[in-house]
Amino acid sequence: MIADHLKTILDTIPADVRLVAVSKFHPTTAIEEAYAAGQRFFGENRVQEMVEKAAQLRETCPDIKWHQIGTLQRNKVKYIAPFVSMIESVDSLSLAKEIEKQAAKSDRKIAILLQTHIAKEDTKSGFSPDEVMQAAKEIQTSGNYPHLVLSGLMGMGTLTEDRELTRREFANLASLYHDVKATLGPDAKSFCELSMGMSDDYPIAIKQGATIVRVGSAIFGTRAYR
Ligand SMILES: *Cc1c(COP(=O)(O)O)cnc(C)c1O
Repeated sequence: MIADHLKTILDTIPADVRLVAVSKFHPTTAIEEAYAAGQRFFGENRVQEMVEKAAQLRETCPDIKWHQIGTLQRNKVKYIAPFVSMIESVDSLSLAKEIEKQAAKSDRKIAILLQTHIAKEDTKSGFSPDEVMQAAKEIQTSGNYPHLVLSGLMGMGTLTEDRELTRREFANLASLYHDVKATLGPDAKSFCELSMGMSDDYPIAIKQGATIVRVGSAIFGTRAYR
């Protein structure tokens, strides 16, 4: 089942778009099934769940790349810093500072995306477009974040049936991503990822230039919660 779903999705997305399988609320057996089918990137939104799953899967799925995709409290960064591959949900400079501190302690570099607010809903967190430009410049040029790899932007569209609204929100984020990249200049080689699109809207996101899509229910089936 899971392997079939993965194949169906991978058949429709370009080879250079990275599929992050969002496994939140699904058991480790589901992750093992996807891993056996070749999937390596997995996304979780709660720290405790990611830490527990990573520990349980260390032997059977040794080269999983874990992406943190949900709101991250500063006091929990220390639990994932030793192993997380990318933190997609960086929504403040104070969080970036804490990730820097914990990455240094673990003697690692951690890739981050700046989460940007593109939806109409106020409930979704992230930098405003103006703030994200400032934050990117600060992280890239201040010299205060040597253990962070500033890798791009992440956003979530409005939960809506209105495809045109979704398309517009993703187009706006893509345009902002290109502005930030241009402002950072050619030295910011690692700034090359645009994470947008979930089960319901990833084809739209890819058309607008997504390089990472975060897909949960289309792979693992429906969850009780979002
Ligand atoms: C849950 C979640 C997803 C995946 O959602 P699906 O609709 O199941 O594909 C993607 N991104 C974030 C930030 C999420 O919290």
